[in-house]
Amino acid sequence: MKLYEFQGKALFREAGIPVPRGAVVTASDRSGLFAPSAVKAQVLSGGRGKAGGVLLVSTQAEAEKAAGSILSMELKGEPVRALLVEEKMNIRAEYYLAVTFDGETGTPLFMASASGGMDIESVAEHTPEKILKLPVDPLWGLTDYKLRAMADFLGYENKKEFASFARKVWTLFREKNAVLVEINPLVVTDSGLVALDSKIEIDDDARPRLKDLFEKNLAEQAALTGVEGEADHGTITYVPLEGNVGLISDGAGTGMLTLDLIRDLGGEAADFCEMGGLTSPEVMYSAMDQVFSDKKDIKSLLVVLIGGFNRMDEMAEGITAYLREHKVSIPLVVRLCGTMEEEGKAIMKEAGLPVYDDLRTAVADAVRFAAGGN
Ligand code: GDP
Ligand code: MN
Repeated sequence: MKLYEFQGKALFREAGIPVPRGAVVTASDRSGLFAPSAVKAQVLSGGRGKAGGVLLVSTQAEAEKAAGSILSMELKGEPVRALLVEEKMNIRAEYYLAVTFDGETGTPLFMASASGGMDIESVAEHTPEKILKLPVDPLWGLTDYKLRAMADFLGYENKKEFASFARKVWTLFREKNAVLVEINPLVVTDSGLVALDSKIEIDDDARPRLKDLFEKNLAEQAALTGVEGEADHGTITYVPLEGNVGLISDGAGTGMLTLDLIRDLGGEAADFCEMGGLTSPEVMYSAMDQVFSDKKDIKSLLVVLIGGFNRMDEMAEGITAYLREHKVSIPLVVRLCGTMEEEGKAIMKEAGLPVYDDLRTAVADAVRFAAGGN
């Protein structure tokens, strides 16, 4: 689960990490707007500053104007639905500080640079020596000398303050099962260190342990995007492709096999969409929503399900719920088997939907329908 900046900053505040005073503003509620301030687009992608999604304003009129213009933007294809309006900071220096996992060793890794701000990618590429990388030993934990080494590297005088700041970031990273906590820029102000930006990603596998955290943040995100079932998007892998046979499977292996079969039988898949191992009616619903909202030109939808842990009655419920709420005018080819197969078939039958037993026949029909046959 990726968090918006304002959500990440709420976690920072809770953890005692200094952040600017600010308010969230949406198109329907602009009451939080104030000036002078920094008006910042809330999207999950980075690089907002360069794309014009962060504006500094001095007066209320400028704030209104900036809010209007940023709320009508799309950044990397993502419409801006909320703003974070923050007090302006007097910035003396911009650092970069992040904790993530080292892909090679699997251990947590601190990264720090005195060249923070909007160009950290080019710093990493052209002058990697300006970024300090310090692995955290899982047995020793984060030791004081590493914190001093980081402060030294950054050239930050108040080592005690830095150590306390970085330790809070580390505790947050661990307690919230984060896979990434990035602060860019971490700014030096007259009153010390302040996290001016926040990029946090929480491990989806921690959902059972951090139920409240997930529910709260996913509900906030769903309220912003207005997409039903968004809460469960985490388990869906969706890749758009070039063809016209829409495809949804409940596992990656089944999906790959079906992709091959579609091609063998003369068709082209419009997408690869798999729901991960453990599914639910909501995930099934979201998968259909994902495919139909992205692909306007598919000619048939092929749903291939093998019930292991997941139950066919739940899958059938997801499919029929989607069809009750949306007008779908293309042929739907559903092949299901396994756990709760009879119950699933009964639900499909009651909704007047055909079910296939044989995979090859199902794929052949989906390909034929997409080609205009019947
Ligand atoms: P990003 O481009 O998506 O990473 O967005 P950031 O939140 O990092 O903002 C981009 C840049 O805007 C920062 O690097 C700062 O230089 C600048 N910025 C953001 N907030 C303030 C602020 O309150 N005061 C000043 N002076 N600059 C700010
Ligand atoms: Mn940033």
